[in-house]
Amino acid sequence: MGLHTLEEWKAKAASLTYRNQAFINGQFVDAISGNTFDNINPATGETITKVAECDAADIDIAVKAARASFKSGVWSKKAPMERKDVLLKLADLIRDNLEELALLESLDMGKKVEDAAAVDIPGSAMFWQWYAESIDKIYDEVAPTAAGDLAIVKREALGVIGAVTPWNFPLDMATWKCAPALAMGNSVVLKPAEQSPLSALFLAELAQEAGVPDGVLNVVPGFGPTAGQALGLHDDVDCLTFTGSTAIGKLFQQYAGQSNMKQVWLETGGKSPNLVFADCKDLDAAADMAAFGIFFNQGEVCSANSRLLVERSIKDEFVAKLKERAATMQPGNPLDPDAGMGAIVDAKQASNVQRYIQIGKETATLVCGGDAPTIDGKGSFISPTIFDDVTHDHQIAKEEIFGPVLCVIPFDTEEEAVTMANDTEYGLAASVWTNDLSRAHRVADALFAGTVSVNTVDALSPMTPFGGMKQSGFGRDLSLHALDKFTALKTTWIKY
Ligand code: NAD
Repeated sequence: MGLHTLEEWKAKAASLTYRNQAFINGQFVDAISGNTFDNINPATGETITKVAECDAADIDIAVKAARASFKSGVWSKKAPMERKDVLLKLADLIRDNLEELALLESLDMGKKVEDAAAVDIPGSAMFWQWYAESIDKIYDEVAPTAAGDLAIVKREALGVIGAVTPWNFPLDMATWKCAPALAMGNSVVLKPAEQSPLSALFLAELAQEAGVPDGVLNVVPGFGPTAGQALGLHDDVDCLTFTGSTAIGKLFQQYAGQSNMKQVWLETGGKSPNLVFADCKDLDAAADMAAFGIFFNQGEVCSANSRLLVERSIKDEFVAKLKERAATMQPGNPLDPDAGMGAIVDAKQASNVQRYIQIGKETATLVCGGDAPTIDGKGSFISPTIFDDVTHDHQIAKEEIFGPVLCVIPFDTEEEAVTMANDTEYGLAASVWTNDLSRAHRVADALFAGTVSVNTVDALSPMTPFGGMKQSGFGRDLSLHALDKFTALKTTWIKY
């Protein structure tokens, strides 16, 4: 039972107004160039609104505003309890505007509005609240020195943080970066993905309403090679935090080397394995979660369980269960509570996914899906797709597809499963299904992944760090560990 019917969501969507200018120094402003770009709804192909197309000139103004606000101390020197109160209010404002924010996410990038209302938006409010509550509970250190010496180790805000985010969870990714950065007293310039800038722009307005001072949170929409690159290359940005593809993550490392050696933190791609052993106690639960793990959010999830490694003795039974679940997750209008899945973010990404499906059709066994339907004759959609009998070194089992495409790879022994699971350039997440406690620990220890979920998939909370190994990136979002990215340790040594 959803919050609203399709017709009710459509009516709400029709009455929306959009914040489509950049938010710099507390004001909505046009791009200096006056340019705009079309913000397309992937479910219909129609233009939602025209958004300010910012470039290096706008980024520079935003960085200057951020620096000035940081230096002034209006936020950076505010008492921790006061910063807490402001960010708690922001969490409440996000909850108050849940339906509007959920609609913006859905229209912008195609996800189901009811999923955004149940997962993304409450998640963002929770993350803001969690970091707000942490602010006045973090203590600095006194080092164990000899008598007559006092060494104080303080955590200090870095200054200006640049954040560049992707389109798959627009508000949540902005939150994962901005909440810990602002909690520690930094000022931020956020460049949201060009496919989905609307919720971040609304967030900036809500932050101002909550009491975040002008210049402390700036949101500058624009394209990657212009606005994103300008932020990465800016000499007055102290730290750049990024979520997106591995290829662009590597560019940010280069930008830092070409400019002021700013700190760079990367959350990048993945090809996460889900290992199902024959001793798994509840195969139905495993099948439910395996389907969720690859088809939720149209498979556009960095930690999507895109490689299913199944013990050969149960493989056919398990694939049959998955096929049943895929049948119930067919794409539909993202505003329809009964849709199984929404639209792919844009036509380019949909054709990229179709390219991989074509490769799969030529070399593996198509169990279901593989087609690209339209809804009401429009839009970019892909049916939930399962390929069986995929070898682990096959292109579709190695490269990140970032769509609703599952590769099933059979195995015979635990050792073989672990070897295949680890034979990837990525290391973001992994799942293990077994009823054997020793095996659960043994396999979890052996897997290269930032998070290993046992008898579930994609375990994630504000309390636990999230991030990758190998080319899935480094540094951690979420938990108190995320605060380390946005602070420097300073030692003050006093002899007395
Ligand atoms: P992307 O790398 O193309 O874009 C991400 C951001 O980088 C966008 O804001 C974009 O404008 C910007 N950008 C693009 N080109 C740039 C350039 N030349 N210079 C500077 N900035 C540039 O990624 P995407 O397609 O938006 O998102 C999908 C990718 O993100 C997938 O690979 C997925 O795995 C990854 N992802 C990772 C996580 C994680 O936490 N590890 C989470 C979500 C998504």
